[in-house]
Amino acid sequence: MIAEIVAIGTELLMGQILDTDAQYLSRRLQSLGISVYYHTVVGDNPQRMRDTLALALSRSDIVITTGGLGPTQDDISKEIAAEIMGLAMRFDEASWREIQDYFVRLGRACPQSNRRQAMFAEGARILPNACGTAPGCMLEREGKIVIQLPGPPHELADMFEKQVYGLLAARTGGCIASRYIRIYGLGESDVAQRCAKWIEAQDEVTVAPYCQLGECQLRVTARGESEAQAVEKLMPVVEAICALLGDHVYAVLPTSEGSMEEAAGRALTERGLTVSTAESCTGGLVAARLVNYPGISAALGEAHVTYANEAKIRYCGVSPQTLAAHGAVSEETAREMALGLRARSGADIALATTGIAGPGGGTKEKPVGLVYVACADRHGVLVERLQLSGSRERIRSLAALRALDMIRRAAIRA
Ligand code: AMP
Ligand code: MG
Repeated sequence: MIAEIVAIGTELLMGQILDTDAQYLSRRLQSLGISVYYHTVVGDNPQRMRDTLALALSRSDIVITTGGLGPTQDDISKEIAAEIMGLAMRFDEASWREIQDYFVRLGRACPQSNRRQAMFAEGARILPNACGTAPGCMLEREGKIVIQLPGPPHELADMFEKQVYGLLAARTGGCIASRYIRIYGLGESDVAQRCAKWIEAQDEVTVAPYCQLGECQLRVTARGESEAQAVEKLMPVVEAICALLGDHVYAVLPTSEGSMEEAAGRALTERGLTVSTAESCTGGLVAARLVNYPGISAALGEAHVTYANEAKIRYCGVSPQTLAAHGAVSEETAREMALGLRARSGADIALATTGIAGPGGGTKEKPVGLVYVACADRHGVLVERLQLSGSRERIRSLAALRALDMIRRAAIRA
């Protein structure tokens, strides 16, 4: 089954909001084994909406529209879909009562304009809206299905999960499951080369690489009669890839979300370890990302932004001689920052950053993008020299990512 998502709303075309409904629906349809071939966005314009829906129905089995179910004159999604399907509109008393009840619950008067929301194509399956006034609907004709959902993401999600997912699952009779292998410290082509055997085999289990800022992921997907069966098929491939890539793999997750700070936070808290940070060029980014992890209070005792030389001396005990001889951005300073911070804070792991984020401040010997990240633990101290490129923001993000990975690795070997 091929699906198309048609997002309706001029605000999307104007860039006022992003089409997150399509992202949400695509993920959910994927888990049902339904292939989404097109995402389309169209404004609240009758003729362009007609053209768009007609095209969508010509090339897809399922068309899901989002938005345009409101009570105002520009909310015409249902009328246009009915017209394209050759169906007349009918008033539905029960829906009108539910809409009025909704207003009663809010203690507000129900405007007569909301009557439009109780109009549906004949034969439509009405999808009541538990979170708002706009009911959705499902139309079927000649093997094609049109599902119309409200635009607000929480209303859409509630309606889709409770009323649509099950119906679609019953029709597809199958499921697909994925696992996302998150990789740090290897480039995309390197990963693709090492895993070519699985990527090229268009097997029952498919493997596809994606890269993101500073990291890379492999999506491993299989189809089965149930989700559990699909997972059972794909796990041997996941395990083989993890064995091959070793500790470059920092997480294996069921969705493409999840982050290095989660991996670092988990590695620390599971082992009961503590961490402290002293950041120069990253200016608190490492700490801020660690704090994204909900359980981090068990591990993070203190986090300093030691931007000035005096701060590096005061909070990390860096010697003024080291700063004078090698400068603030140097391997020596980074090392003393991490070692000094570890001694003063008493944390198991101390992490320090110092570098030149740019765009100014670079020299021939110390160009923009030069960053030292140091990590001290009971085994000693490791200093990594990075030569990064790009904007100030990019350099700081990549440095913070490396810092989080060093914390994660230190926690694992502690
Ligand atoms: P509508 O159902 O067209 O009245 O849309 C109501 C509201 O839902 C809009 O003002 C947006 O805030 C939100 N919305 C509509 N379409 C989308 C979409 N595709 N993705 C995310 N939010 C949306
Ligand atoms: Mg709209």
